[in-house]
Amino acid sequence: ALPKIAWIGLGIMGSPMSENLIKSGYDVTGFTLEQDKLDRLTAAGGTAAASVAEAVHDADVIITMVPASPQVEAVSYGPDGILENARTGALLIDMSSITPQTSVELARAGRQKGIRVLDAPVSGGEAGAIEAVLSVMAGGEQADFDEARPILEALGRTIVLCGPAGSGQTVKAANQLIVAVNIQAAAEAVVFLEKSGVDLTAALEVLGGGLAGSTVLARKKDNFLRRDFRPGFRIDLHHKDMGIVTDAARAVGAPLPVGAVVAQLVASLRAQGDGGLDHSALLRAVERLAGA
Ligand code: NAD
Repeated sequence: ALPKIAWIGLGIMGSPMSENLIKSGYDVTGFTLEQDKLDRLTAAGGTAAASVAEAVHDADVIITMVPASPQVEAVSYGPDGILENARTGALLIDMSSITPQTSVELARAGRQKGIRVLDAPVSGGEAGAIEAVLSVMAGGEQADFDEARPILEALGRTIVLCGPAGSGQTVKAANQLIVAVNIQAAAEAVVFLEKSGVDLTAALEVLGGGLAGSTVLARKKDNFLRRDFRPGFRIDLHHKDMGIVTDAARAVGAPLPVGAVVAQLVASLRAQGDGGLDHSALLRAVERLAGA
């Protein structure tokens, strides 16, 4: 029989990902803070739980997809948390994007409780979650990764064990650096092109076919053209990720001069009340600099 799954955190990513597991035949019990997301899980054929403890107590595999390190710690530790309530031998796969250090500590705490832990953050956005084509960057033990692979294959397409606990998060931090710098470069090009009076639709079409083409340009083109900044991936979350990569890089002595500037622009968007917008709203930061 397929392993029984508990899913904690049914947001923009967790909802479609858990639904893909249900479509693949898994028995999924979920818990999240919003009632409408629990109703959505039930409508998709899953089971709604009233707490983390209730969701995980009889699960073989527990997946967490919550915003950041504090929420991973909140659902994992303490009397009502995963480590206290999951059964011995269960496998915990944290797919949230958090600090590598938090993942290392969680793996160590899990080991003391007989719970195996993988960090397995993802890239590919909401569209990648819906289409089950995410990139999954894992950290942990090879045997645990091998056991998790069929589940991860129901969620994504490129699934790689990057090293021991925390390694997946380090790779995800690099991913977020690359994505932010890419969006910033595209946003600067958009403002430059518009100020030059060039047709933006034509320009983005031809840019997409050359060396300037990128997944970011393809996926965010319509956001730029329509100034449609509904999330997607929220500025608040990318701000969190720029903090993670900046800290992790400083700790190993890797300078990120361009990344540091983009991190400040993300911070400025947030400070201006745009934290709930999609990260393509970096275009707004560039427009403000341009006096638009
Ligand atoms: P989201 O804010 O839409 O969803 C987070 C969910 O976590 C919410 O449904 C909330 O109820 C739940 N949650 C928070 N605290 C909880 C608690 N204590 N107990 C139970 N549930 C709790 O966020 P998202 O966009 O789905 O992102 C989730 C994670 O995935 C983040 O770490 C993010 O950085 C990462 N990520 C997001 C994207 C994207 O495009 N949105 C892409 C890749 C990775």
